[in-house]
Amino acid sequence: MPAERPAGAGLGGTVSEQEFRRALGYANSALDLLKRATIPPYPQFYELLYTYATGINPALNARVNAIFRDGHPTADIAERLYNEFLRAQDANERISGVSQRMSNRIVAIHDAIDTAMTTASAYSASLQVASGDLGSDELDATRLRVLADALLAETRRMQDANHQLEMNLAASRDDIEALQRDLDDVRREALLDPLTKVYNRKAFDDGLLRAVSRAEEHGDHMCLMLIDIDHFKRFNDTWGHQTGDQVLRLVAMTLKSNIKGRDIAARYGGEEFAAVLPDTDLEGAVILADNIRKAIQAKELLKRSTNEKLGRVTASFGVAMYRAGDTPSTLIERADRCLYAAKHRGRNMVVGETELGDEDIVAA
Ligand code: GH3
Ligand code: MG
Ligand code: MG
Repeated sequence: MPAERPAGAGLGGTVSEQEFRRALGYANSALDLLKRATIPPYPQFYELLYTYATGINPALNARVNAIFRDGHPTADIAERLYNEFLRAQDANERISGVSQRMSNRIVAIHDAIDTAMTTASAYSASLQVASGDLGSDELDATRLRVLADALLAETRRMQDANHQLEMNLAASRDDIEALQRDLDDVRREALLDPLTKVYNRKAFDDGLLRAVSRAEEHGDHMCLMLIDIDHFKRFNDTWGHQTGDQVLRLVAMTLKSNIKGRDIAARYGGEEFAAVLPDTDLEGAVILADNIRKAIQAKELLKRSTNEKLGRVTASFGVAMYRAGDTPSTLIERADRCLYAAKHRGRNMVVGETELGDEDIVAA
């Protein structure tokens, strides 16, 4: 049952002989490349050249090809490529980077203010001395000139310090704005599934709870759509896990581009997706699901590295509508039962909850 699968569970079940051989082939060519370039086979370099061997990332391959062609692959270059293409900084790491920069900035502003204050009090002391001198009886033209020159020099120093402070504050403002944007990015990314860039399970759970509460409060319609890719295990076994990942991205993109406004598209589990549809009745949600189903089915898949035709994928859909008294889990349960019925009735199909028969309830 789809609902029982843990979120993001990777390889499910056993790996076919074919997939095993393919992965072993990638592993061997990664090791060969490392030996050829005398790059130490540390995990990150191995991952880099394994990814290269799969051909899944054309931009990475173009760079690696150029480097091997020029004949100077080094561990340093591999490190840089790894950081650029593969290293996923986690949110904690990024947040601590941002807060470190924030404290450095605050220290710099304090220093600039200190300098400006010291200069200002030196200036005011100079003004006091000057005003004393101006009151003196022995003030002649020469002394007046000396005094004016000194005051002018002090004023310039003061101007410089002020200017410095202004520049520092402007730079800080720009920095703080950039940091704010960084933090916003981190916050947004923490809600997304890294592979498919639709919302992750946590964001889905929160969004569904909010939508259910709103439907309960205002009595609005609201639907939940669950999607499960058909025979995806077979697809993975035939074409490899990396190509399977591309299919997940494709399905996610198709889902995302077909919904709008306050709808939430999410990756619910491994090869399962979900959409929360506020202000949508069952009929509308079923039509939407069927459009998404057709859009997925219409896409002919090509292997990026070789342009090889991989055929098509299809998906099955279950759609349930909020009813008074529903909680997120009762709603998920009904949508899941519909999804199960769609699988049972032959896949590549949408089942809305009013189409459930007694046999589906027994089967689920
Ligand atoms: P059904 O039509 O009944 O849904 O068949 P299925 O093969 O899609 O269903 P099953 O639940 O048996 O297998 C799901 C497969 O999805 C298992 C695993 O190979 C694959 N899978 C799960 N998560 C990922 C992932 O993150 N990446 C890739 N490439 N495959 C995944
Ligand atoms: Mg499944
Ligand atoms: Mg499936």
